[in-house]
Amino acid sequence: MIPKDHPRYLSLLSREKIVNAYKSGILADAGMIAHGRGEAFDYLIGEETTETANKAIETAAAALILAKNPVISVNGNAAALVSSEIVELAKVLSAKIEINLFYRTEDRVKAILNVLKEAGADEVFGVEDDKMKHIEGLNHPRGDVSPEGIYNADVILVPLEDGDRTEALIKSGKFVIAIDLNPLSRTSKTASLTIVDNIIRSIPSIITKVDELKNKKEEELKDIINDFDNLSNLKDSLKVMLDSIDKFWRF
Ligand code: ATP
Repeated sequence: MIPKDHPRYLSLLSREKIVNAYKSGILADAGMIAHGRGEAFDYLIGEETTETANKAIETAAAALILAKNPVISVNGNAAALVSSEIVELAKVLSAKIEINLFYRTEDRVKAILNVLKEAGADEVFGVEDDKMKHIEGLNHPRGDVSPEGIYNADVILVPLEDGDRTEALIKSGKFVIAIDLNPLSRTSKTASLTIVDNIIRSIPSIITKVDELKNKKEEELKDIINDFDNLSNLKDSLKVMLDSIDKFWRF
């Protein structure tokens, strides 16, 4: 029902998808609040991928290409907004997909599994509770992950994650790539690499970058990763936001 010529069509469409995902049991109520927080930061970057985020996206693509066991973690928000794109990214990277929920219930896992299967996923990890292993430093079931997926991953892409779990994953030796519109969150500060951008733009951009970089030499990809500094990239993202507020005062 949203008119396509509305200036904020994509934002309103995402909102509709989020509400529908809540109604169909894919998303917890808290997932809607998390989305709202994300929207506020997206407004501040003009609802566009910044140059700073593009640098992080390129680095993320390089790290994912070099990974031996890359895993894409999926929660309710990601399933609601970018399930097809996640399946496509997993295919181009030969990466695994794992359902990893903060508010885990059997019904929600089943609902997300269905969405991913409908989007074309062949195999999805993190579905069978009795086969899970535990990540140190987190209470059950928040720290339960699949032995073939996140537990054994070297690089994990987490579109939307909370600070505690990011910290625990980092402590267990993983390279964690977070996508989080809030550059001030604990997740953003703790992750190995943070893409301050909306998942609806950044997942398709990672796919494009992987395609561009996949035939580069290992050394070139390593150079891209070594040149990246997460804290300074976060500061640059925050500066974009502060500049947009500053422009308003001069308007
Ligand atoms: P932390 O524990 O990391 O300090 P938090 O408790 O704020 O953070 P959550 O509520 O678990 O984090 O996660 C939601 C995060 O996801 C928010 O920081 C929000 O900005 C971000 N977010 C929400 N929607 C999107 C989206 N579509 N794309 C990218 N990031 C998003």
